[in-house]
Amino acid sequence: MNTPASRLPALFIGHGSPTNTLDDNVYTRAWRALGTALPRPRAIVVISAHWFVETTAVTAMDRPRTIHDFRGFPQALSAFQYPAPGSPELAQEIAQVLAPEPVLLDTGEWGLDHGAWSVLAHLYPQADIPVVQISINATQPLAWHLALGARLAPLRDRGILLLASGNLVHNLRRIDWSHPESGADWAQRFDQAAVEQMMRNPADLLHLMEHPNYALAAPTPDHFIPLLYTAGMVLPGDAVQVPIRGCAFGSLSMTSFSVGAPVDSVLNA
Ligand code: ZN
Repeated sequence: MNTPASRLPALFIGHGSPTNTLDDNVYTRAWRALGTALPRPRAIVVISAHWFVETTAVTAMDRPRTIHDFRGFPQALSAFQYPAPGSPELAQEIAQVLAPEPVLLDTGEWGLDHGAWSVLAHLYPQADIPVVQISINATQPLAWHLALGARLAPLRDRGILLLASGNLVHNLRRIDWSHPESGADWAQRFDQAAVEQMMRNPADLLHLMEHPNYALAAPTPDHFIPLLYTAGMVLPGDAVQVPIRGCAFGSLSMTSFSVGAPVDSVLNA
């Protein structure tokens, strides 16, 4: 395949509960294996479901703080730190890549939220690779996010790992705590449809909005939108793979995708 040797993959990771940060389970083990198998990036750009605001912003501080944006979880989680450096230079680079879209360079408001660090804690536990987050602009329609993903894709050729973190099925009202390792029928049907669409034609991922279970799967769009970014990041010749597959607590999908990763590295993950 005629892709530059230095091209990095793009990932969509279903992050699930913040408790995954400290847990050792089938998903976190898969994230660790993935981190070991993938090439080491120059920096990581994260699109997290949990930075859902009314602007397009990029973290532009040297030392992004670890944000504990949840309540009611164990103290150990509220004390968790992911001290990866930021990269003001990369924030500028992203603003240039996205121009003329106005991009706010955030030097103090945000940091790294748990959508980012619950996954990064396993992918890159040493926290020694610079991380920059891009907000999800809640004022924009879904198609805009898919298009923005496509505009970010060239960063893959500049040593950047693009990591989108959400859950393609995420309905907290339907959580079933008695079934930590399975999904309701409707959740599994939507999950299956998303996998088929990503494998067949990721550029048309918005077709999923016509699925009869879309409203149940994404009652709010925040956790679904990161998948649109990954779909937009698929470049010609990229293999789309599903390194992690499954539902949890009835109404969460932990299914994850890798785009353009060397086939062997993912299969061995
Ligand atoms: Zn979340």
